[in-house]
Amino acid sequence: DRGRGRWHLFSSQDTSREQLNDRILWKEEIAQALREERFELYFQPIIHLATGAPCHFEALLRMRGKEGGMVFPDRFIPIAEKTGLIQNIDHWVLDQAIETLARNPGMRIAINLSANAMDDPTILSLLKQRIQRHRIAPERLSFEITESVAIDSLSSATRLMRSIQDLGCRFALDDFGSGYASYAYLRQLPVDDIKIDGAFIRDLPNNREDRIFVKAITDMAHGMDKRVIAEFVENTDILTILEEIGVDCAQGYFFSRPARLEDLR
Ligand code: C2E
Ligand code: CA
Ligand code: CA
Repeated sequence: DRGRGRWHLFSSQDTSREQLNDRILWKEEIAQALREERFELYFQPIIHLATGAPCHFEALLRMRGKEGGMVFPDRFIPIAEKTGLIQNIDHWVLDQAIETLARNPGMRIAINLSANAMDDPTILSLLKQRIQRHRIAPERLSFEITESVAIDSLSSATRLMRSIQDLGCRFALDDFGSGYASYAYLRQLPVDDIKIDGAFIRDLPNNREDRIFVKAITDMAHGMDKRVIAEFVENTDILTILEEIGVDCAQGYFFSRPARLEDLR
């Protein structure tokens, strides 16, 4: 393809040409979407089971494609992470979340942080500056990082969590149980909330082992003064079991799908 008079070494570990082309196209598309403000935050309520009221809302990122269709984060976040654009996305999400808090007194929001954010020295100063500018009570903002990100970069994640908590914001460990789920990590990581991975929630009514696991995690978390959140709550059968187990909060299609804020009220 590159013409005669060249040689090129390939190895089976190389990313294929196709994957590379795909990545280049998507990188340009994501950069363009950032410039054209085609990103949007959707929100999904997280319900406090004892009261039935939302304790906070998780911000979930959406991208409008050039032709207007909606693109989900599983499609563009991994590419943004490989191409460095994820930093712009993390900052954009943080900015938008704080502006949303400023416009909606009493509301609380949780945002997802990428692996990249663990080593991003600017995120903390940006957070401080935005909180001061908008005079937001910091406890209204919570950050979610996945168990695997926290454990892969244990020391930088711990450091970031501490600094963010020193500012007064909360921290949640997302997708708990999908990887290590170990007491040793839980003891070291300064998290306020544990979000049990949806894979352990969706089959609760039919799977006794999952019920035992969720109960054990919940008791352990409560013993450590942490709150437990269950995701993927899709029906009343699941909800009833979670109430029996004593889980604190729940999120899922049973309560609401992620939506624009104005469509949630
Ligand atoms: P996550 O943080 O684990 O978010 C939960 C995902 O489950 C969301 O998918 C949500 O729409 C979906 N969900 C919620 N309730 C239910 C339910 O009852 N049943 C089922 N089957 N699914 C449910 P979404 O919005 O497509 O996001 C996927 C992932 O992309 C998120 O997983 C998160 O890791 C990442 N992500 C989303 N927004 C952001 C962001 O702003 N920044 C970063 N870095 N990552 C984000
Ligand atoms: Ca999350
Ligand atoms: Ca999750």
